[in-house]
Amino acid sequence: MYSAFLIKYAEIAIKGKNRYIFEDKLVSNIAYQLKNVDGEFNVRKENGRIYVEAQGEYDYDEAVAALQRVFGIVGICPVILVEDRGFEQLAKDVIDHIEETYPDKNFTFKVDARRARKNYPMTSMEINAAIGERILEAFPETKVDVHHPQVMIHIEIRPMINIYSTELPGQGGMPLGSAGKAMLLLSGGIDSPVAGYMISKRGVTLEATYFHAPPYTSERAKQKVVDLAKKVARYSGRIKLNVVNFTDIQLYIYEKCPHDELTIIMRRYMMMIAEHFAKESGCLGLVTGESIGQVASQTMQSLAVTNEVCSLPVYRPCIALDKQDIVTIAEKIDTYETSILPFEDCCTIFVAKHPVTKPNLEYIKRSEKNLEEKIEGLMRTAIETTEVIMVDAE
Ligand code: ATP
Ligand code: MG
Repeated sequence: MYSAFLIKYAEIAIKGKNRYIFEDKLVSNIAYQLKNVDGEFNVRKENGRIYVEAQGEYDYDEAVAALQRVFGIVGICPVILVEDRGFEQLAKDVIDHIEETYPDKNFTFKVDARRARKNYPMTSMEINAAIGERILEAFPETKVDVHHPQVMIHIEIRPMINIYSTELPGQGGMPLGSAGKAMLLLSGGIDSPVAGYMISKRGVTLEATYFHAPPYTSERAKQKVVDLAKKVARYSGRIKLNVVNFTDIQLYIYEKCPHDELTIIMRRYMMMIAEHFAKESGCLGLVTGESIGQVASQTMQSLAVTNEVCSLPVYRPCIALDKQDIVTIAEKIDTYETSILPFEDCCTIFVAKHPVTKPNLEYIKRSEKNLEEKIEGLMRTAIETTEVIMVDAE
């Protein structure tokens, strides 16, 4: 079995002078993800490489799954690291590796040797030829195919010799913490957890704000949002979740404004409150799960009117995705099953039968004038009574 993984990362490598910062983030993010895996691991950098080495027994599948959640990794290669004890030993190690890894030896292969250490007594070409020959002798069913091999056997001569032939896909993206922090408007729906995951994939850490409307929305609806935050936190790390009691604001809008404008006005107040928390904690933008045309409040006109209240950038990673594309991602990150649990969210209670689809900003502002008397006080109370929950990966 493998005692180590060679971690491949791509985009980071182009970051020039900042490269080491990105690598260090990646190393600590890997260590963090592995904390919950059975086993002890040492994560280290070595000449533009990252190695994860297990100290003794460990759970291979769990370790791979954890590494596959780390943003910034493009490939995970289970690797055998051996001391240089001469060519005979190397050939034996490669043959043992093939013996253990491939029960069926009917495959084509190519040996790809590289010397990072030029004082090794054979050239890469010589290693390729000599090891290739040994493999053919040991396993006569195998064949060489230098153009499209089914198995590529990598042998890298570094301080240790690296032998590997498998590369499992990583998440891609950028290491968490290499960008800033953003405030996710997290509902119990399908889209916003996906939006949080997607923005986080670019290295952005998250806070979140959820608006609930007790007693119109239940404790279980809130718990569902906490559960979704836990799932997103498996990728994004700990999420500070603000739970805002939005009931009085919603009732006030309901009482004072035309009902076909309720959703849009309500969304403007959500954005304002989320932005308040965002600025308070140094977030550089807001994130929503909106997608053009999905519902009345997500036409381009509606998005423009909602956007107008914000001074921070609003990031909408799902903006151009079809629902099915979003569902596919939700399934991949395991939020879908939770998202479709049938608990009401606060928007569904107060929705009009025929909401405006092309709101006019001036009309909306005129309607909002009806709120002047009490809205500031209600917003202040909502902010002051907000419950903060620290959500860790489950
Ligand atoms: P989702 O599946 O993310 O709930 P949706 O398709 O139901 O999205 P809307 O209800 O119009 O769409 O919400 C659009 C976006 O506004 C959501 O993606 C989310 O970012 C934010 N949002 C909506 N309701 C809430 C809420 N109760 N608390 C926090 N954010 C919300
Ligand atoms: Mg929703």
